[in-house]
Amino acid sequence: MLGKLETVFSYTAHFILQSWPEKRPGILFLTDSGGRVINFLELMAGQSWHPQGLDLMLHSVPSGKVYEVITEATGGREIVVRAWEGDDCVYGAIPLRENDGRVRAVVGMIAPQSQIDFELFSYMRGLEPMIRMGYDAYIQHATSQIIMDLNFHDTARDLLGCLTTQISDIIQKGYCSAVKLSANRLCIPQESVTTQHTGGGPGDIARVVARIGQEPVEPSVLDGNRIVIVPVNCQSHPLYALILHLPPDEMDCTYDERDVAFLQEVGEKASSALWRAIRLDELRREASKKDLLYQLMSKIQASIDVNDVLHEIVTSIPSLYPHLSVELFLTVEPNATTPVKQLSFQEAEPSTSTRAYLEGRLIVETTGEGEHATTVIAAPLLGKQGIYGVLQVTSDERVSLSQHETDYIAILADTAGTAFENAQLYQQSRNLIRELRLINEMARQLNRSLDLKEILDFVTTMMGATFDAEFCAILSKAPGEDRFDVLSASIPEFNGMMVPTNEKPFQEILQNKQALLLAQPGAGPLPFSLLPCCSLMGVPLIVEGEISGVLLVADSRYHFFSFDDYKLLEIFGQHASLAMTNAVLHNEMERMVITDNLTGLYTRRHLNERVRASLEQDGYGSLILIDIDYFKTVNDTFGHQVGDEVLIQVSNLIRHSIRDSDIAARWGGEELAVYLPRVDKATAHSVAERIRNCVEQETSPQVTISCGLAKWSKESGADLSVESLFHQADIALYEAKNSGRNQVVLA
Ligand code: GH3
Ligand code: MG
Ligand code: MG
Repeated sequence: MLGKLETVFSYTAHFILQSWPEKRPGILFLTDSGGRVINFLELMAGQSWHPQGLDLMLHSVPSGKVYEVITEATGGREIVVRAWEGDDCVYGAIPLRENDGRVRAVVGMIAPQSQIDFELFSYMRGLEPMIRMGYDAYIQHATSQIIMDLNFHDTARDLLGCLTTQISDIIQKGYCSAVKLSANRLCIPQESVTTQHTGGGPGDIARVVARIGQEPVEPSVLDGNRIVIVPVNCQSHPLYALILHLPPDEMDCTYDERDVAFLQEVGEKASSALWRAIRLDELRREASKKDLLYQLMSKIQASIDVNDVLHEIVTSIPSLYPHLSVELFLTVEPNATTPVKQLSFQEAEPSTSTRAYLEGRLIVETTGEGEHATTVIAAPLLGKQGIYGVLQVTSDERVSLSQHETDYIAILADTAGTAFENAQLYQQSRNLIRELRLINEMARQLNRSLDLKEILDFVTTMMGATFDAEFCAILSKAPGEDRFDVLSASIPEFNGMMVPTNEKPFQEILQNKQALLLAQPGAGPLPFSLLPCCSLMGVPLIVEGEISGVLLVADSRYHFFSFDDYKLLEIFGQHASLAMTNAVLHNEMERMVITDNLTGLYTRRHLNERVRASLEQDGYGSLILIDIDYFKTVNDTFGHQVGDEVLIQVSNLIRHSIRDSDIAARWGGEELAVYLPRVDKATAHSVAERIRNCVEQETSPQVTISCGLAKWSKESGADLSVESLFHQADIALYEAKNSGRNQVVLA
């Protein structure tokens, strides 16, 4: 028996009242199987009749005669009618039984014997069809009420919520659930609605679905009438399965055929409303999908960041297809912030995605069989200039994808491809501008300086700032040497360190005379002794076709440098090479200007400048003027060539007899000079004597020299001009010549 007893009684009472003879008092009542009064009412409309001592109260078990009749009826007999001596009332009771024979309720009657002129027993027997009619009317009314109520719900979920609750209310046993069915009548557990509040037990809907398994759903009654399954179809399309299931705490309960029939009838009648709600859902989903697609499109079209585009695609699509798995494959190595995977070209059997990429077209493919069958849709991300990756949507066999959906995915992939390309082009052009700016700035700075140290420092700083790497350095290699020296490094401790040229990075650079980009994905640090690193770039500095050094940038992170970085470092290398060559040439030229060609000593002009500077800065100093004795005779005897050689011999002897801070110069012809800053007369004299002695001892052919020595000091307050100092020395030299030569004379 379905439904709440109160409700069923109100329907039944309606029919009973219709059949009750007019203006006869009496009481009609209903109790449950335990005798508890559920409802009672007067049989004569508008007239109340209260026999003495009658105990009839709502929600309690009556006593006395009423109780006796009820227990007799529940005890087994069909209809009970009893009257007692001295009591005018007659009592009757009809047990209402379930299909299995159990008494669910008792309908009772009490009437005054004196006022009814018919036999109550016969009357009550005649009531049975009335009760059935009332009950049927109730079921019909309840069913149509359910179906009517469905009209107020226009989403499948709401509708099913209402449907299952109402079914559950009427059946009064266990739970009612609805599970979506696929086109081939398989359960889709992700889409279910249930009246069950807590899950987990054996009666749990998830377990019931698992119990049904991968079989197409058929109308069935399982587990000894504890599970009832009724598939709901519309125009032979499977929609949902309505399921009745009992929790373990309703152990003594089972479902009977009335429950099944009711469920079937409701299912059948609800099918078109359900179909309409499902269609409406689909339309709404379609509309929101278009909306979402439009939003996604406008968002990614407007985006100028490649990572943003990728992120948007990967996060938006799952909201369109909650039951599908969506993956994005790219050819480039993904960085940590984008949820994408890398396309693999290494497998012997290329994956669907790899093939979609290689063939540049959408591929739909089903792999596996039965339970394990999966459908993969791989759509290439097509741009105008190339294919950037593949959008892959995977579904298992429960969800079939229509052509419509496939087209939709293709559009999505196309748009994503174009957006990705645009963002990439934008990023590339921005990088290009950044690089041009950098190169411009670098060239400007480098051209401003001819100082090698300044250039080295600048290039190192610039590399550090541009590549943001942990280490960068400039290394140099002398021709013929088998090592590189660190000239300038971002970490000062590395300055002056050496690396053998046979280490892998250098070997490659030396061999190919080309820039090098090294990164060993996941293979541990590179074989490089200078410092541990996983990413390294090196660019050779080429001067007159020879490698004179290397620009080096390194980092301990994998894949730290992009190809763009590498190209940029190459340009850095070209500019740095040029600037360094210029600085070296300039240094050379400067040296040449102040150096005498024949002797390698300083020029007279340079000596004059140095003496002038010393006169300004220092407190004192000494000047030795040297003239080779009878040099004319050397020339005349041995020839000019030998004269030159003697001049060089004397120059070298002078150079070796003085300190680095002293300045030896060719004063003119065969006259030489040594200026000794901050050297007093006595010391200068011994230097001059040493030179004189050396020349006398070591020249070949032998020559001697005469020296004139002059000193100055700020203290003496004498005229401090360069000319007067030279003049004094010259006078002393003249004296040395006149006094027999090969001697030193002090001014
Ligand atoms: P003394 O100084 O002792 O008086 O005799 P001297 O022979 O050295 O006389 P003087 O200084 O007048 O002559 C200098 C000679 O040195 C004249 C010139 O031929 C020679 N001479 C000057 N410059 C060079 C040079 O660069 N190479 C050679 N081989 N000879 C030079
Ligand atoms: Mg001379
Ligand atoms: Mg001379």
